[in-house]
Amino acid sequence: MRTTKGSTEVTPTDAPSTEPAEAATREIPHDLFCQECGYNLRALTSDRCPECGHSLETVRAARTQIPWIYRKEIGRFRAYWRTIWMVMFRQRVFGEEMARPVSYPDCQRFRWVTVLHIYVPILLATLAAYAIGPQQARPFGDDLLYEALTAVWPVPIFHTLILLYLAAITGVPSYFFHPRGIPVALQNRAIAMSYYACGPLALTALPGAAAIVAILLRGNGYLGMAAQLFAIVLPFALLLIWLIDLLHISRRVMPQYRGRAYLILVCVPGLWFFLAGLILFGIPLFIWYIVLITATMF
Ligand SMILES: [Zn+2]
Repeated sequence: MRTTKGSTEVTPTDAPSTEPAEAATREIPHDLFCQECGYNLRALTSDRCPECGHSLETVRAARTQIPWIYRKEIGRFRAYWRTIWMVMFRQRVFGEEMARPVSYPDCQRFRWVTVLHIYVPILLATLAAYAIGPQQARPFGDDLLYEALTAVWPVPIFHTLILLYLAAITGVPSYFFHPRGIPVALQNRAIAMSYYACGPLALTALPGAAAIVAILLRGNGYLGMAAQLFAIVLPFALLLIWLIDLLHISRRVMPQYRGRAYLILVCVPGLWFFLAGLILFGIPLFIWYIVLITATMF
């Protein structure tokens, strides 16, 4: 993490510009809960939790620890992947960001960059499939089925729906993070952090690549089996890390709403699958139905 303070220092637009010297005695202004024991840290002036001794150093840090904020200084690539690392493997430190204002435009930009990390490999795979497609022998005896599966016009529609789906699933968790009972400032931080939590999805290309290897090797040999396993397990692992991050944020900002955590645990994955059914299957079926109806009319 950055500890040096230079002339190029970037402070998030709404972050307090408190000096570290006075930070240790600054009162914590909100209901903010210890990550270890759930003790309410409000109005505390010490640098350790009085209940369990957990260090409040990262809670008290005046500057955000999210690398993405410092992308102009350390470069976009490094800032992005360091943030992914933080969101995936340093979830406690990530959770402590609740102590500071979290910039909304920055988290949105991070979200859309993550969406592109999922979408661009899909786009490239589609283009590659079309580039090598015509040389292949027709795998289906049925010409009509072949026409239907290789028609070009549904491709842009399907890609639009994929983008719509990615926008929906990365946005939907935020709805669970603004119960009226908590201060508006904390609601805003929790919402912004819920967008960062989708970071693990940036690695979606890995199981995709594993799936291609598994198909090419037809699951033969240890490599083929490993690729198959990787392609199946990894997507669930990424979704799980995302969900655990959301639970961390929930526990951090509103432990008094225990039901909210269970709601997130059940409803967020439920919504991911529901939206997949609706956007990726429901809408194409509807479009196909409309096309069939209009085709039979002429
Ligand atoms: Zn504690």
